[in-house]
Amino acid sequence: MHAEPRASRFVQRLGEGEPRRIRVSFEFFPPKTEEMEKTLWESITRLAPLKPNFVSVTYGAGGSTRERTHSTVKRILGETALTPAAHLTCVAATCEEIDAVIRSYCTAGVRHIVALRGDPVGGVGERYAPHPAGYRNAADLVAGIKRLSDVEVSVSAYPEKHPDSPTVEADLDMLAAKVDAGAARAITQFFFENDLYFRYLDRVRARGIDVPVVPGILPVQNFKQTKAFAARCGASVPDWLAERFEGLEEDAATRKLIAAAVAAEQVLDLVDRGVTDFHFYTMNRADLVYAVCHLLGLRPSHEASGGHGALPLPAGERAGVRGVG
Ligand SMILES: Cc1cc2nc3c(=O)[nH]c(=O)nc-3n(C[C@H](O)[C@H](O)[C@H](O)COP(=O)(O)OP(=O)(O)OC[C@H]3O[C@@H](n4cnc5c(N)ncnc54)[C@H](O)[C@@H]3O)c2cc1C
Repeated sequence: MHAEPRASRFVQRLGEGEPRRIRVSFEFFPPKTEEMEKTLWESITRLAPLKPNFVSVTYGAGGSTRERTHSTVKRILGETALTPAAHLTCVAATCEEIDAVIRSYCTAGVRHIVALRGDPVGGVGERYAPHPAGYRNAADLVAGIKRLSDVEVSVSAYPEKHPDSPTVEADLDMLAAKVDAGAARAITQFFFENDLYFRYLDRVRARGIDVPVVPGILPVQNFKQTKAFAARCGASVPDWLAERFEGLEEDAATRKLIAAAVAAEQVLDLVDRGVTDFHFYTMNRADLVYAVCHLLGLRPSHEASGGHGALPLPAGERAGVRGVG
């Protein structure tokens, strides 16, 4: 019997100058303390040679990290060759205040913004009320950004529906509005069952939305925290995942091996099903993400070949997911 070879087994080096076919981006959060700053920069330094498409820096709830987001983004611009994407939310600020942040990013040389509505000031679960003089939602913010500058804009997407959204259709309407306003890419909330992503992608394409929908991958650094976080943002945690981490509460070394295996399994299955772009929620830690990127064929750019591992893809493939839409 002749089985079709799996795409993920075909990790190969590219020749000089050949375009890269697997693209990754890494998400970081702005550090609160000097120690966290050190961890973040160790992670950035380790991951940078993998030449991500971009690295994004989150914006704290209610704009609480505005200064730290800005200074982290500026340091990335000043000290690395990476392309930073600054997250920005609409929460608790007037349009004027947000416009000032957008302008300051543009002046600093930022060319990519991840535009979000953000969570209510009182926390997830509260009813979201836009600031009376602020941007009403993420689509409104995308339009505001595009009025001020032609920076690249990415937005969020929710394979399992955003908890505020009454229906999947309403969720898709919002995604369509964000894309109509100028968003070039959607990045998904994390998920653990790949079928959820593909089912969602089918609905996105059926709705006529054709931008790349890049899967957000969360390597599970801490299962308990992941579960709590998932409950707040409407992502499901399958029983099989809980079982894999069961009994390892006091065994960090094994937990890490399991986390790498879980993330590898998820990402390689996505590759086998045609995905070429990945956004990693790094939690400011490099090890798991570095290992998974290695499996994806990515190698530090200083290696002799100067190339990156990649998968052979059919001609005519668009950024994001091939063979879909
Ligand atoms: C890739 C990614 C990055 C993120 N980065 C950050 C970050 O840096 N900082 C941060 O604070 N948060 C971040 N978040 C979380 C995000 O802010 C929250 O999920 C927030 O609740 C929704 O913001 P949004 O832009 O996704 O919302 P939107 O896309 O505007 O809306 C999401 C859904 O909620 C529905 N909805 C929106 N407003 C209402 C309303 N008033 N009533 C009823 N339904 C409504 C919409 O119809 C839509 O279906 C991120 C999420 C993702 C997926």
